[in-house]
Amino acid sequence: MTAPQIATTIAEAHEAVQLARQSGKRVGFVPTMGALHEGHLSLVDASQECCDYHAVSIFVNPTQFGEGEDLNRYPRTFDADLAKLTDRGVDLVFAPTLDQMYPAGYSTFVEPPAVATRLEGTSRPVHFRGVATVVLKLFNAVPADLAFFGEKDFQQCLVIQHMVRDLNLRTEIVPCPIIREPDGLAMSSRNRYLSEADRSRALSLSVALNAATSEFERGNRDAAAIESNMLASLQADAVDYAVVVNADTLSPFVEHVIDAPAVALIAAHVGSTRLIDNRRLT
Ligand code: AMP
Repeated sequence: MTAPQIATTIAEAHEAVQLARQSGKRVGFVPTMGALHEGHLSLVDASQECCDYHAVSIFVNPTQFGEGEDLNRYPRTFDADLAKLTDRGVDLVFAPTLDQMYPAGYSTFVEPPAVATRLEGTSRPVHFRGVATVVLKLFNAVPADLAFFGEKDFQQCLVIQHMVRDLNLRTEIVPCPIIREPDGLAMSSRNRYLSEADRSRALSLSVALNAATSEFERGNRDAAAIESNMLASLQADAVDYAVVVNADTLSPFVEHVIDAPAVALIAAHVGSTRLIDNRRLT
């Protein structure tokens, strides 16, 4: 496999993508923060299914981390990431410096859509402002036809889809399924923080979500009852939320009656690691 072109400036990335587009290629884009695992690589595979040119960005975006979060210890594994992207046939790796993305005097931010206010928006108040801002900037640097996002970050997918619609962006968003370890733990760059004991407690998130799905499949339509069972089975140090909500709006169901497509979402702390996971119930 040929190694991808590496662009560290916005101008280089933009030029490479424009050239690909001018030669008639359909451009797929996968934004990441690196420390790549099969979850990320499944997004590249999805791009391979329907695009002719594949761009991946690696940028640990400081504006989406709140005070006291894990920005400084976030894993940075560029060489290993590059080897994986080479294997998967990626054409362009955009790995901008901090200064390229946020030069001195930078002061413009995207006000995220309404769907950003709940759940992660409550637990991590600045998070989606940073995500929306960096994704818009990345889309301008890498003007792709399609961009692939994992449903692991379910709310993030909705935030980006609403931003694309509201701001008339030309890149189409393709949500992709969650990739899990064989035992069910959702793959995450943060799983490497987990000790062995924490790793087995972390499994309780996917176990709780599976139980929620089974209850729903058996006909239970009481969101509050499903939520309290999820809470009871979590082996976490703290739970930010464990909810069943409308999958399109993330709003709670009126009187807890599930009467529209639903998703169960959990955010919980296991040891020093904050984990998120979700499953659609319908
Ligand atoms: P991150 O590097 O964590 O910002 O993630 C980059 C992209 O990979 C996002 O669209 C994530 O939703 C996606 N992603 C992360 N983990 C997974 C997973 N286990 N399965 C599918 N997509 C994932």
